[in-house]
Amino acid sequence: VHSASELVLAGLDPEQRAAVTAPAGPVCVLAGAGTGKTRAVTSRIAHRALTGEVSPRHVLAVTFTARAAAEMRARLTALGAQGVQARTFHAAALRQVRYFAPRLLAGRAMPELLDSKARVVTLAAARVGLRTDRAAARDLAGEIEWAKSSLVEPGEYVVAAAKALRDTPHEPAKVAEVFAAYERLKRSNGVIDFEDMLRAAVWGIEEHPDVAEQVRGQYRHFVVDEYQDVNPLQQRLLEAWLGGRDDVTVVGDASQTIYSFTGATSAYLVDFPRRHRGATVVRLVRDYRSTPQVVGLANAVISQARGTEARLRLELLGQRPAGPEPELRIFTDEPAEAAAVATRCRALVDAGTPAREIAVLFRTNAQSEAYEKALTEAEVPYVVQGAERFFERVEVRQAMVALRAATRSIPGETPLRVAVVEGLSAVGWAPDAAPAGGAARERWEALAALVQLAEEHAASPPVLPIGEAAAVERPMTLADFNDELARRAAQQHVPTVEGVTLSSLHSAKGLEWDAVFLVGLSEGTLPTTYARTPEQVEEERRLLYVGITRAREWLWLSYAVARSPGGRARRPSRFLPQLDRSGGGAERAGAGAAKRAERRRPQMVSCRICGATLLSGPDRKLGRCPTCPSDIDQDLYERLHDWRARVAGAQKVPAYVVFTDA
Ligand code: ATP
Ligand code: MG
Repeated sequence: VHSASELVLAGLDPEQRAAVTAPAGPVCVLAGAGTGKTRAVTSRIAHRALTGEVSPRHVLAVTFTARAAAEMRARLTALGAQGVQARTFHAAALRQVRYFAPRLLAGRAMPELLDSKARVVTLAAARVGLRTDRAAARDLAGEIEWAKSSLVEPGEYVVAAAKALRDTPHEPAKVAEVFAAYERLKRSNGVIDFEDMLRAAVWGIEEHPDVAEQVRGQYRHFVVDEYQDVNPLQQRLLEAWLGGRDDVTVVGDASQTIYSFTGATSAYLVDFPRRHRGATVVRLVRDYRSTPQVVGLANAVISQARGTEARLRLELLGQRPAGPEPELRIFTDEPAEAAAVATRCRALVDAGTPAREIAVLFRTNAQSEAYEKALTEAEVPYVVQGAERFFERVEVRQAMVALRAATRSIPGETPLRVAVVEGLSAVGWAPDAAPAGGAARERWEALAALVQLAEEHAASPPVLPIGEAAAVERPMTLADFNDELARRAAQQHVPTVEGVTLSSLHSAKGLEWDAVFLVGLSEGTLPTTYARTPEQVEEERRLLYVGITRAREWLWLSYAVARSPGGRARRPSRFLPQLDRSGGGAERAGAGAAKRAERRRPQMVSCRICGATLLSGPDRKLGRCPTCPSDIDQDLYERLHDWRARVAGAQKVPAYVVFTDA
């Protein structure tokens, strides 16, 4: 008979066990994706609680997204450790501030929490003579968020921005002025933002011994998951909670730092063992999440990384049995890509994969619309994580209102695309002027998605009721398009509680699914055009690594040559060729380790039949081509090949590439 605490240990490997049973004090788990870091820390909490070493009430586990916190609570409950607080930094700080507000504010009302900085930033910019549209205001707000998360005051901004090589939305001195005005405006209006709230939590502890005593009496043992994404302000709060004590376990993976644009830095994780002498340091390399094929691809992507985390990287060792080969698919345009993804989702669901075990991951939230539409049409339920559904977004609703208004002033014969662009310019959208990064960029992308919809529809005649069939030859008008948008919006408003997850790569971290679709892997999207500095490009690469490592079994990577049918061609993501850097090099490679390493890389070769690119396995035999029937004979191969070549121009045949890995 085993005790509950022994059962917790039974599910772990020796290194994880070392992390779980380490004595009270600093513990640092440094390991790659899927190696069981979160499992190790939740087990450490549960083990300590079940053996009576700590009381669950005195444990605070922090992470970065609400879903990850919920996931932690669920895992703790499953392990038999109820009552542990697992929260995001924000939620934990808000709770503390609310609790102590009556005491610290001497009866004054707690300031209202701004849900978005943009409105106040607009006013602040106007105060210093800067006219901003919504996009510019959001870029400034993003910059202020970075500064405040990095503990940079307005007076220090110019120097700090230069040091951090910030790509500032205006001249740094002007940004500093807006920042200062923003702080003054908030104060005079009695409102605070999210960073102020974290600062208030720090201030409460640092300046009030009674508060410090009470908070520290409550929280005695700390766990921080995804510690590679902590920013200086959050770190300061963690230190305030600790108050010189050191019973803290941090876990993270420097290769998964994806929030440095908001001030996060993996330096705290990397330096932890140095700052905490005598810390138990555990490294995990066995990957329990993904098939060896997925692990191989993840290793290939991250092995190209440059920068500080490269020094610390350990190659992941897949533990699971072999699974299906990851696939890379290339489509002519985004609607075709989305339709293929939806078809595959449908097939997976029909074959018994629960929809909640499938995710479609993309770089920007604006990309979700095409997938929302395609999944709706394929009757696959979906949920959009961390964002509203496309037609519920403020920007999109505003754009639709503007379009309706525009219908009255735009002449009937105006081509639909022009009409839409004109209508959208009423809400500040300019086709060639995508704002740099942040929320403004997302808004621009949402509007671009509407234009893309219009482009798709401009080609097709409107669907009319049967009685009016005679007019079908009538070209699509803006009014028709507005009706179409309204119809789609209504369709999307059907609420779903469970379904395929549509998520940005940022919101997907820490999570896992049986099947993962990584879409939109084109240059300009991943990496985004706004990744200019080498550091920014590295962050994009880490995003791809995060995406790949979310898949347990089945992984699909895809990109579309053009945004819309017949549109301008884009190149595949620069990260993709790197997966195949050695391309056919095995033949010339020498003997020994180099050759073996070479062979572990996916190798791309073309299908001799259809011209599709596929990958050879370690024995250099061709993998099976997904487009050709497998039992076809050589002669037929050649004829089919010729035929395909002749019709290729006329046909929209997506090129297929399959990655395999030894
Ligand atoms: P990420 O970096 O993505 O957050 P992680 O290192 O936190 O990943 P976990 O989520 O803890 O990894 O674990 C990945 C998967 O592997 C989970 O499904 C977990 O249950 C499983 N797992 C972890 N450790 C073991 C183990 N020792 N034996 C079997 N399965 C394990
Ligand atoms: Mg984790």
